[in-house]
Amino acid sequence: MKKTLTIIAIIFSISVSGYAQKNDPAMKPFIDALMKKMTLEEKIGQLNLPGSGDIVTGQASNSDIGKKIKEGKVGGLFNIKTVEKIRAVQKIAVEESRLKIPMLFGMDVIHGYETVFPIPLGLSCTWDMKLVERSAQIAAMEASADGINWTFSPMVDISRDPRWGRISEGSGEDVYLGSQIAKAMVKGYQGNGEYKNNNLMACVKHYALYGAAEAGRDYNTTDMSRVRMFNEYLPPYKAAVDAGVGTVMASFNEVDGVPATANKYLMTDILRKQWGFKGFVVTDYTGINEMIDHGLGDLQTVSAKALNAGIDMDMVGEGFLLTLKKSSQEGKVTIAQIDAACRLILEAKYRLGLFQDPYRYCDPNRAKTDIFTDANRSEARAIAAQSFVLLKNQGNILPIKKTGTIALVGPLADAKENMPGTWSVAANFSKSISVLTGLQAAVGNNAKIIYAKGSNLDADSVFEQRAGMFGKGFNRDRRNAQAIIDEAVAIANQSDVVVAALGESAEMSGESSSRTDIEIPQAQQDLLMALLKTGKPVVLVLFTGRPLALKWEQENVPAILNVWFGGSEAGSAIADVLFGDVNPSGKLSTTFPQNIGQVPIFYNHKSTGRPLPEGKWFQKFRSNYLDVSNDPLYPFGFGLSYTNFTYGPVELSRPSIKSTETLTATVTVTNSGAVTGKEVVQLYIRDMVGSSTRPVKELKGFQKIELKAGESKKISFTISVSDLKFYNYDLKYVAEPGDFKIFIGGNSRDVKEAGFKLL
Ligand code: BGC
Repeated sequence: MKKTLTIIAIIFSISVSGYAQKNDPAMKPFIDALMKKMTLEEKIGQLNLPGSGDIVTGQASNSDIGKKIKEGKVGGLFNIKTVEKIRAVQKIAVEESRLKIPMLFGMDVIHGYETVFPIPLGLSCTWDMKLVERSAQIAAMEASADGINWTFSPMVDISRDPRWGRISEGSGEDVYLGSQIAKAMVKGYQGNGEYKNNNLMACVKHYALYGAAEAGRDYNTTDMSRVRMFNEYLPPYKAAVDAGVGTVMASFNEVDGVPATANKYLMTDILRKQWGFKGFVVTDYTGINEMIDHGLGDLQTVSAKALNAGIDMDMVGEGFLLTLKKSSQEGKVTIAQIDAACRLILEAKYRLGLFQDPYRYCDPNRAKTDIFTDANRSEARAIAAQSFVLLKNQGNILPIKKTGTIALVGPLADAKENMPGTWSVAANFSKSISVLTGLQAAVGNNAKIIYAKGSNLDADSVFEQRAGMFGKGFNRDRRNAQAIIDEAVAIANQSDVVVAALGESAEMSGESSSRTDIEIPQAQQDLLMALLKTGKPVVLVLFTGRPLALKWEQENVPAILNVWFGGSEAGSAIADVLFGDVNPSGKLSTTFPQNIGQVPIFYNHKSTGRPLPEGKWFQKFRSNYLDVSNDPLYPFGFGLSYTNFTYGPVELSRPSIKSTETLTATVTVTNSGAVTGKEVVQLYIRDMVGSSTRPVKELKGFQKIELKAGESKKISFTISVSDLKFYNYDLKYVAEPGDFKIFIGGNSRDVKEAGFKLL
């Protein structure tokens, strides 16, 4: 290592100050001096981010990628892990390339590394920013111990369409909650911005509007008004930028007819000029090349368009590498543009401390002590339990006792591989805790757990294969469906309570996993019906990566606990909640529809000119459906507890405010049940009259509190004019004088209200 440092110091004949200080005055002269030495090809090389390809331990130098690295044609690599491999590749860069520039090593560390946390949609249901931040911090600690220094997370795409499989990777439908989470994640990964060797550089994605794909079909076109874009979709990306995120990833979709990857309005006008983003922008996987299929021209044309729009780094497709030199000779791009992109990438490397020590993230000892530790796993278990949402608990079936006989049934009951959920590339499936293992460990010898699969994931074996990719398949039971159900019914008949672990497999959501049918697969519904017929109390433990349509289940199953995909420790966390060791407190960050036809359905919609009268669900010539009410099945913010919370009236500190003033809204929340519980107290505001139409409710604050049985607490929110602002028709961010309503409650539907005026 000493030798390498000396080499670097000699080459640049310039000293590098301490590690990665935020505004290090030495950075600019260092990079100026380095760039003076770089050829055009070497600068373009920095803009190239291939996948790790054919690298095998011990042979990195002879691999195709190894050759490119020596030629200065690679700025970073992604999807490579372990200190041994990364060190070997970094060594090629800093010892065998002409300028010895270290590389970035990126990975999709999305919801944990080997210790896996709940999928982001589940994590968002904790409404607990400390936990969200902590999950990112632990993920960073583990990934950096394995040589990685850059993660392609957080994903902050707002989505209101459960058909879209990637709704599982984001924080749901709400712009305020999504923005808070974006901030917390960036802080968790990056620390205070002065990278240590246990942080990661974050990458907010997918900028922009990827979650609004038409018909919920992945990679599809998006099209929306700028007013909606600015008010309802862009703020979480901006929140990440404001929190200092190091990089931004362009999305695959088009916006206003131009793919984000070539969209100058997004990449330069908004991101750089309006928001002042100072890091670099990377494409998504082959995002440049895909613009050929979008119909924007050949590789040279689309690559030039991307650079001109403000893209700095090209993931996988090598469009920059192959065409930018030619484009600069032909005047299609300028050297200044290539320089600017190269500089941003070198700055990121500098900030990460890689010029000072290219092996900074390659400590050979850390993997043993920092990855998948008992401490990390126990935090993951606690976080998972906070993400579960109790949707129904008729007659307080839950919690169940750790005595008697418990029948555990369902294709997700003994499915280790499926516990971590989608995008868990570093997970070690053999170590994750299934529901069966979790329940057995919790009851020990005090109760008997009997298990039967009960049904396949789906009757269609081809569908099941598609839903079981990346080693997350199921051992398909080849017997006929009735025989599999009969076996489960037989054990249900011997039990005191039935726990049915049903729903989606991990890969039924996530990338390229859109669905047009968002119900539990029929084979599993048949099982559920048969179990209910036994007359035993049935608890549905629901696995899902998206809101499902559960009208039948809500009407017929006495208890439903939605556990999303809780991560490597999910099985233990599920036991914690089922047995009441943890009282559930998760609240939905996304609306559950009654059926697919209501989609998109979200709480912060507008009124129409023909709203329904109070108490009616249908009236001719009003905005409604003939066959189903406009109500969701479970509203945004909803989630039950093993206790009950009651809300007193909303009291305001004053009836009106001037734009320079604030007002306080206070409610008394009481735990009126029998056990300690956590509640998310939610504040919504409605602007009653505007120059443009305004949503019927918008989340503007929340507090997660814990109350003992019988305890009451006064909860206050301070409201200032900035909470009342929105982008108007001219895209000016304004607060308009007039009447406002405040709503406070435990979900977006059941609220207490009060009114005030902005003078
Ligand atoms: C996904 C990104 C991911 C990238 C790299 C793409 O297909 O859209 O979210 O970061 O692959 O793995």
